[in-house]
Amino acid sequence: MSPAMSQHAHVHVNHGVAISDAGELLEQFTCRCGATWTKTYQVIAPEWD
Ligand SMILES: [Zn+2]
Repeated sequence: MSPAMSQHAHVHVNHGVAISDAGELLEQFTCRCGATWTKTYQVIAPEWD
């Protein structure tokens, strides 16, 4: 039995965060198999006039 890369349970390792041009918080995750995910958080900012 040889486990395939696509049949393991992905481990979401936090790879860092970034701020998009739109001011959203991007949280990046990677798995050691090379899969990546990005979570986007809408940062609720008050609109100052
Ligand atoms: Zn994986």
